[in-house]
Amino acid sequence: MELRLHDTLTREKRTFVPLDASNVRMYVCGPTVYDFAHIGNARPVIVFDVLFRLLRHLYGEAHVKYVRNITDVDDKINDRAARDFPGLPLNEAIRKVTEQTGKQFHADVDALGALRPSVEPRATEHIAEMREIIERLVKDGFAYVAEDHVLFSPQAMNAANSSLPRYGALSNRSLDEMVAGARVDVAPYKKGNTDFVLWKPSKPGEPSWPSPAGIKAEGRPGWHIECSAMAWKHLGEHFDIHGGGIDLVFPHHENEVAQTCCAFHQERMANYWMHNGFLQVESEKMSKSLGNFITIHELLKDWPGEVLRLNMLKTHYRSPIDWTMKSLEESARTLDDWYRVAADVEPGKPAASVVEPLLDDLNTSLAIAALHSLRGSDVPALAGSLRLLGFLSESAAQWEGRKQQASGVDAGEVERLITERTAARARKDFKESDRIRDLLAAMGVAIKDSKEGTTWEVAR
Ligand code: AMP
Ligand code: ZN
Repeated sequence: MELRLHDTLTREKRTFVPLDASNVRMYVCGPTVYDFAHIGNARPVIVFDVLFRLLRHLYGEAHVKYVRNITDVDDKINDRAARDFPGLPLNEAIRKVTEQTGKQFHADVDALGALRPSVEPRATEHIAEMREIIERLVKDGFAYVAEDHVLFSPQAMNAANSSLPRYGALSNRSLDEMVAGARVDVAPYKKGNTDFVLWKPSKPGEPSWPSPAGIKAEGRPGWHIECSAMAWKHLGEHFDIHGGGIDLVFPHHENEVAQTCCAFHQERMANYWMHNGFLQVESEKMSKSLGNFITIHELLKDWPGEVLRLNMLKTHYRSPIDWTMKSLEESARTLDDWYRVAADVEPGKPAASVVEPLLDDLNTSLAIAALHSLRGSDVPALAGSLRLLGFLSESAAQWEGRKQQASGVDAGEVERLITERTAARARKDFKESDRIRDLLAAMGVAIKDSKEGTTWEVAR
């Protein structure tokens, strides 16, 4: 069976045909590093990690290149740096914020079972490429200089008599309607009210670089140009897949396409545009003001990363997710069970019943239903399929040990009580054996008696 992916541009599922099967190329917009990543940010990380693993399974590990950037130049970073390190020169403070946040992001996504991308470019290391693209856009009349800014003109793009895509095609908007509906308080230096910033002057003390297009004052890039530059540098002018959250379709991705296609005179930037749906918490939008803003870091104190991963993948990536405690508890029980039966088993090949739904636009909910069926019929295939999906990174004993640690249960004490209970049962002192069982239950320990003896686990 072939891989089919839903493309935001054509609004349909299409068979995936790579430009070069020996070098399949994917770009995903990564985090802006100014604060702990929240659980919504984990969604694209996990979804595109599953796609990365599936592509490696299909084309071979050495034949897939996955680029996910780190945005380390942004107003939010500058504000955070000034707030958290008021005593330091701004640039030093910024470095501290981006280093700390970047490290934290890596710790979080490693715990979620996400493979590191092939390349993780940083915006500040690609200023030369940004300037090059901007120079090309200005030279060809798609962008202009005004008051030390460089602005891109969507109207110039749509007026060009060429094979360029139409500005607005990706987000399914009409430029005329955007022009008519634009706010009136547009910056005075903009010629058109939909023009967007490629480059802007830096304020004193802010990070700054020599400007392109003959501008004397130093400046810094706009957000959209960063991704065009990093994708170009690491994946070329035209590549296979571009991904991110649905909120990025407009304006970020619409503007990326415009910049890249106009700079390189081509019809396409990526052949497939993929967007994950949004995550909300207990049926409410996640926001700082509602107080239901959960960081990955906080969640990892209570749940193993693989539980968060499974919980995320139970919903198809394009649907909204309602993140609930109830669903998390259920995911934890499922993983406890899978670890018990499959973690120490020699893995077989991933089952067709799991791979086929994945090939159908990453239908992870169906794939997970298939895992539940394999649990009773083919444990080696269950183990192989779970590994393909990025689970079972630990042994069954490590998993159980972590659970005990997290719950504060003392394994030695439990073993001692179980020995006492076995002795009580042997002398038919059932009052005592029931007392010990209740005591264990109160400690959060569930026991199971069988012919082989008594086993126990921490009950979720
Ligand atoms: P940001 O750091 O806000 O640019 O976001 C990084 C990535 O997380 C982008 O791909 C966003 O689309 C995605 N994202 C942010 N919030 C959510 C959310 N609540 N649900 C799903 N994805 C999100
Ligand atoms: Zn981007």
